[in-house]
Amino acid sequence: MISLKGISKTFKTKNGAVQAVDNVNLEIEAGQIFGIIGYSGAGKSTLIRLLNLLEKPTEGSVKIDGKALSSLTPSKLRAARQEIGMIFQHFNLLWSRTVRQNISFPLEVAGVPAAQRKKRVEELIELVGLHGRGDSYPSQLSGGQKQRVGIARALANNPKVLLCDEATSALDPKTTDSILDLLLDINEKLNLTIVLITHEMHVIQKICHQVAVMENGKIVEQGPVIDVFRKP
Ligand code: ADP
Ligand code: ADP
Repeated sequence: MISLKGISKTFKTKNGAVQAVDNVNLEIEAGQIFGIIGYSGAGKSTLIRLLNLLEKPTEGSVKIDGKALSSLTPSKLRAARQEIGMIFQHFNLLWSRTVRQNISFPLEVAGVPAAQRKKRVEELIELVGLHGRGDSYPSQLSGGQKQRVGIARALANNPKVLLCDEATSALDPKTTDSILDLLLDINEKLNLTIVLITHEMHVIQKICHQVAVMENGKIVEQGPVIDVFRKP
């Protein structure tokens, strides 16, 4: 589903160069929940931005669904981007729009006709458990409800992959568990591939099948969660 080969990303700064990602190889299979864990500064955000096609690698190749991204024309790259949904630590909702309008937004951008949009938005509201909240504004919602809106919006265009950038780090433990349960539920129901980055071991242990441990831009260990984090 996603394959990274020899990926490096260097940023030029006033004081020289920073190698945020250093020769990373990853194979993420369709239907998996794949976790990337590491301390702050390890390179996780840069890696997820490379997966989201927001950054270009300095070296190496990214393949999604067998297609090398470097070979795509701009219009094919836009189409590839639509196959990737993303959710964020601080939700990134449109604050002046209702839940329905937030979820509808990516459908509008994709040019989906109004009648179809309306139907899809109601499906998504049910899927993420926001029944009765469609006309609320983000400021009227709890953190967990805001992240449900984020998830619904990310899924609107039926992506093949959902990227989660510290998606539960702003939530309390109980709300974190309810969002993780929702991610498990959609992984099973939709056979959606999920890639998440986190600094919380609990998140990895609760829902991930595979994990990669990142340190100083490098993957220092990877494999099934039960093997990597086996208790001695
Ligand atoms: P994490 O998400 O694990 O905290 P990041 O990917 O944000 O790690 O950062 C990895 C390293 O790359 C850090 O040293 C960070 O300062 C540096 N870095 C990230 N983005 C940039 C950028 N746009 N310009 C310069 N340095 C950056
Ligand atoms: P947190 O998860 O830390 O509580 P929020 O999700 O509330 O953060 O905020 C995320 C971003 O959206 C912040 O940059 C914040 O300034 C902005 N923001 C939050 N509430 C509103 C609002 N009602 N109107 C406009 N921007 C807002």
